Amino acid sequence: MVATAPVSASTPSKSPTTPRQGKAGVALVTGGVRGIGRAIAEELVLSDYMVIATYHSSASAAEAMRQQFEDEPLELIQCDVSKEDQVAELFKHIKETYGRLDVLINNAGINQDKSFHKMNTQQWLNVLDVNLNGAFYCCHQAIGMMRDQQYGRIVNISSIVGQKGNFGQANYAASKAGLLGLTKTLALENAKQGITVNALCPGFIETDMVTGIPDEIQTQIKATIPMGRFGTAEEVAKAVKYLISNDASYMTGQEISLNGGLLTH
Ligand code: NAD
Repeated sequence: MVATAPVSASTPSKSPTTPRQGKAGVALVTGGVRGIGRAIAEELVLSDYMVIATYHSSASAAEAMRQQFEDEPLELIQCDVSKEDQVAELFKHIKETYGRLDVLINNAGINQDKSFHKMNTQQWLNVLDVNLNGAFYCCHQAIGMMRDQQYGRIVNISSIVGQKGNFGQANYAASKAGLLGLTKTLALENAKQGITVNALCPGFIETDMVTGIPDEIQTQIKATIPMGRFGTAEEVAKAVKYLISNDASYMTGQEISLNGGLLTH
């Protein structure tokens, strides 16, 4: 685990134009320096959370973010969520540095697409290890802290593919459907402890994961979306902001679709 120096939650910013001090609480966003995760981390910093954003291999994106948010309550930490020992180390650091965790956003995710009959065991395991086991390791650590606090907000970034399945994505679909089961069970088990757990199921969102699809296929996909366009990472971040807010205090165990109008059931 490699950490960059945080702007401490208790260290007031010197600039009068950036008074944020992380007073809204402490939030962890996995895979928080690129794409959807970065938009979520940014939204939470702007909402006055002390944000810990992790990254895996995107060191240059992390450095760019560090420079952009130099005076803000943001800490960037390298952590492979598929490694239980690295996640344990991350949470040890959070406990020692901040003493609490109010919000966990399990966003880190990968895809390794192949038709099922061509998919090998390693491709299956790679995707399950990051998307589902990574979320398990983070939830396992976070739930203990949140139960002690009698407060917590967890949002798991699932996918429309977890709701419906998709050609060439058996591993990804299984991991994202697994997140829905994890979400609903954690919500049941922790509802009386002041912890809400919800899953967000984005459709096609304009990030590296989607812009790599050939143009003609993108055009075909857009034609199936009632709104006729892909979503943006910022639109996902706004939904996350709602799910962790007091406005959503009675909402738990839900799978929220955010997909431009595609029907999922
Ligand atoms: P992205 O590839 O831009 O971002 C993925 C993030 O996960 C990166 O920050 C990466 O560093 C991180 N990551 C990958 N492996 C990791 C590991 N082993 N440990 C820690 N972090 C790791 O993709 P994105 O589109 O921003 O996706 C973010 C999440 O949203 C993913 O879980 C993805 O499955 C989900 N999602 C995306 C879309 C979409 O259309 N883009 C739709 C539905 C769901």
